[in-house]
Amino acid sequence: KAKRRGRNTCQWYTEDLNRKVSERVSLRNALQQAIEQEQFELYFQPQMHGLSGRVIGVEALIRWHHPERGFIPPGDFIGLAEDTGQIIPVSDWVLATACRVAKQLNALGHGPITMAVNVSPMHFQRPGFLKAIEQVLEESGLAPHLLELELTEGVLMDSAEQAIQALQGLRQLGVHVALDDFGTGFSSLSYLKRLPINRIKIDRSFVRDVITDRHDAAIIDGVVAMAGKMGLEVLVEGVETAEQFGYLAQRRCDYFQGYYFARPMPLSDLRAFLASPPAIAAPEALMPSS
Ligand code: C2E
Ligand code: MG
Ligand code: MG
Ligand code: MG
Repeated sequence: KAKRRGRNTCQWYTEDLNRKVSERVSLRNALQQAIEQEQFELYFQPQMHGLSGRVIGVEALIRWHHPERGFIPPGDFIGLAEDTGQIIPVSDWVLATACRVAKQLNALGHGPITMAVNVSPMHFQRPGFLKAIEQVLEESGLAPHLLELELTEGVLMDSAEQAIQALQGLRQLGVHVALDDFGTGFSSLSYLKRLPINRIKIDRSFVRDVITDRHDAAIIDGVVAMAGKMGLEVLVEGVETAEQFGYLAQRRCDYFQGYYFARPMPLSDLRAFLASPPAIAAPEALMPSS
C-alpha cells in the first residue's frame, strides 16, 4: 500500500514538474509577444522629502497587461526574463520610456523630479551598459543627475571589481545610484564603503514593525547613522502608515516612499498628483506622544 502511494506521489510530482516547465515555456513565449507588441506600461510611485512634503522623484515600476491573462506583476516575470535573457529588451524599453517621461515631467515645471529605474543584474553586467545609459540620456535629453539607477546588493557583489568600475563610470556621467532593498542582502559594511553610490533604500521589511520591534528600530538607527557619516542619503521604502512616517522622520530618515504617500500609478495620474500633491502632515504631528 505504501509502495503504491509512493508511486502515486512520484507521478504527482512528475506531473507537477511538467506543468511548471510548460508554464515557463508558455510564459516565455508570451513574454516574447509582450516585447514585440509592447504590452508593458510603466507605473510611477512618488518619493517624498519628509520635512517639506515635496515630491523629489518617482520610481518607475513595470506593469504587464497580458491580453488574456490580465495583469501580471513584475515579481512573476522579471526573474524568468533574467533567465532567458529577455530582460535585455525589456530593460531597454523601461529605460528609454522612463527617461522620456522624466524629461517631460521636468519640462512641466514640477521639477526637479528624479526618475528612479530598477536595473537588473544581467543588464548592469552587460559590456555595453554604460554606453547604453549614455545613449538613452542623449536621446531623451534628460539631465544625467535626474536619472537614478536602483541596484541591489546582489548585483554589486557578484563581480565586485567590475561593479565598482561600472559605478565609477556612472558617477562620471553624473547619473545617480541607489542601493535598493538595503539590508536584505549580505554585503559587508567595509564593502559598502568602497561603493560610489548616492543613496540607500532601506527595505520595507524593516519598516513594517518598526514601531513595536526594537530590533528593526535599532537597524534603522544604525543605517541612518552610518549613511550620514558616509555622505549617503537614506530613503525608506514601504511606509504605509502615518505612525511609521512620524516615527521614521523622528529617527532622521529624510526620504520616503510607500502607500501612505501614494501607490504606484499610471502617468496620467502622476501628472495630476504632481500638479496638486496632497498635503502630508508634518511628521512631528504624527508621533504618538513621546
Ligand atoms: P522594488 O524595486 O523594491 O520596488 C518596490 C516594490 O514595493 C514595488 O512592487 C511597489 O509597488 C511596492 N511598494 C511600494 N510601496 C509599498 C508599500 O507601502 N507597501 C508594500 N507592501 N509595497 C509597496 P512592484 O511594482 O510589484 O515591483 C516588485 C519588484 O519588481 C521591484 O521591487 C523590482 O525589484 C522589480 N521591478 C519592478 N519594475 C522593474 C523594472 O522595470 N525592471 C526591473 N529589472 N525590475 C523591476
Ligand atoms: Mg526599486
Ligand atoms: Mg526595493
Ligand atoms: Mg526589489
